Amino acid sequence: MSYTQRVIEAVKAKDPDQPEFIQAVTEVLASLEPVFEAHPEYEKAKLLERIVEPERVVIFRVPWMDDNGEVQVNRAFRIQYNSALGPYKGGLRLHPSVNLSILKFLGFEQVFKNSLTTLPMGGGKGGCDFDPKGKSDNEVMRFCQSFMTELQRHIGPDTDVPAGDIGTGGREIGFMFGQYKRLRDEWSGVLTGKGLTFGGSLVRTEATGYGLVYLVQEHLNCNWDAFLGKTVCISGSGNVAIYAAEKAQQLGAKVVTLSDSTGWIYAPEGIDVDVVKQIKEVERGRISEYAKRVEGVEYHEGRGVWQIKCDIALPCATQNELFIEDAQLLVANGCKIVAEGANMPTTMDATQYLQDNGVVFFPGKAANAGGVATSGLEMSQNSERLSWTFEEVDKKLEGIMKNIYHAADDAARAYGKEGDFVAGANIAGFLKVAEAMMAQGLV
Ligand code: NDP
Repeated sequence: MSYTQRVIEAVKAKDPDQPEFIQAVTEVLASLEPVFEAHPEYEKAKLLERIVEPERVVIFRVPWMDDNGEVQVNRAFRIQYNSALGPYKGGLRLHPSVNLSILKFLGFEQVFKNSLTTLPMGGGKGGCDFDPKGKSDNEVMRFCQSFMTELQRHIGPDTDVPAGDIGTGGREIGFMFGQYKRLRDEWSGVLTGKGLTFGGSLVRTEATGYGLVYLVQEHLNCNWDAFLGKTVCISGSGNVAIYAAEKAQQLGAKVVTLSDSTGWIYAPEGIDVDVVKQIKEVERGRISEYAKRVEGVEYHEGRGVWQIKCDIALPCATQNELFIEDAQLLVANGCKIVAEGANMPTTMDATQYLQDNGVVFFPGKAANAGGVATSGLEMSQNSERLSWTFEEVDKKLEGIMKNIYHAADDAARAYGKEGDFVAGANIAGFLKVAEAMMAQGLV
C-alpha cells in the first residue's frame, strides 16, 4: 500500500463519522502520489500525517435570545488547520448542516487553496449550526454578538482572520466586527468581507464569482477561445452565483440557469442579474420570485439545472450538488468545461466521469480562490491603512486567477498529468505548504 493510501486508511479509521472530510482527504491525497515518489523525505517527516490533522479545533456553545424571549443554543466551531504560510484564514459558515466533518473538509481544502493564491495565508474554517434564514435583524445581531464573545479569544489580525461563507454576508460580518472591536477595544483587520465604510475592500463582494470566470477565461484564451457566445449553466443564486453570472455576461456569454435549495429557473434568453440581485440581496427572497417577475422563464421545484444544454457549467451552490447522473447529462449535451464556484460541489465519481469524457474540470480550490485572494488583499489594505480603487483590486484579482491557472497547469505537466487540473491544483498548493513545513521543523 502506498504512503498516501495508508494515510487515507488511517483517516478513515480515526474519523469514520466524517464522510465529507474523508472525501476531501481522499481526493487530495490520491493525486499527490507522484509527489511522494519524487520526495521520499516528506514521508520520513510524516508530513501527510501532520497535514491531515488540524493544528487546533475549538468547539463552543452560542446562547442567544430570540424575539419571543426564548433562549436558543447553537454549537459553533473554529478549525485552525495550518499556519505554515501565514495566519489562519477561511470563512465562517452559518447553516443548519454545519458539523465537524463539513468544517474539517472545508478547512483542509482551504489550506491548499490559500497556498495557490501565493498570498501569505494559512488555512482555517469555522461556523455554526445557526440558520439566519427567517430570523429578524435583531436576532441575527444577538446571535453574532454572542458568537463573537467567545470567538474573539481565538482570533486576531496576526493569528486567525475569519471571513464570510454560506449564511455569513456583509450584515453578519458587520455585527461580528462591531462586537470584536467593543470587546477588545481595538480596530483591526480581524475579519474580512467588512463594509466599505469600515475597512472592507472594493471587489470583495464580486471576487469569488468574478475570479471563477477569470480563471475559465484564461483557459479559453490559452486555447484561442472566449466566453463570447457561450451558453452557461450556473447553480445557486447566492454571492458566488450572482457575480459569476454577472462577469460571464459582461464577457458576452448567456447564463440560462440559477437555483436555490427549493428550486431552479431556466431563462432561455439569459438571466437579468439586476433582478436576481434585487430578489436575493435586497429582499432576501426565493429564486421562484424571478419567474414571476420576468416573462418566458420556467421555474421548477427541486434540482435540475444540469439537464439544460450548455457549453460551460459553473456549480456555485454547495458541496455534493453535481452527481454522476448530472455529469452524464452534461457530457451528452456537449458541455466542455466545468468549473467549481462552490467548494466540492461535484462528487468524486462525477468528477472522474467528466474528466474521462474530455470535459476540462477546474476544482474549487483553484477556481473559487478569488474570494480568499481578495480577502488577502483586504488584509494588506487594512495593514497599510489604505484603500485601493476598484480597478486596482480587480486587476490584481485577475492576475492572481491567471497565475493560479498556470500554476495548476504547470504542476500537472511537471508530474505527468497534463490537462488534469485537479491533480495540478492539489500538487501546486501542496508543494508550497510542504516546503514551508519542512523548513519550520517538527511543529
Ligand atoms: P450564499 O449563502 O450566498 O449562497 C448559497 C447558494 O447556494 C444559495 O442560493 C443557496 O440556496 C444555495 N444552497 C445552499 N445549500 C444548498 C443545498 N443544500 N441545496 C441546494 N442549494 C443550496 O453562499 P455563497 O454564494 O457565498 O457560497 C456558495 C458556495 O461557494 C459555498 O460552497 C461556499 O463555501 C463557496 N465559496 C464561497 C466564497 C465566497 O466568497 N462567498 C469563496 C469560496 C467558496 P438557499 O438560499 O435556498 O439556501
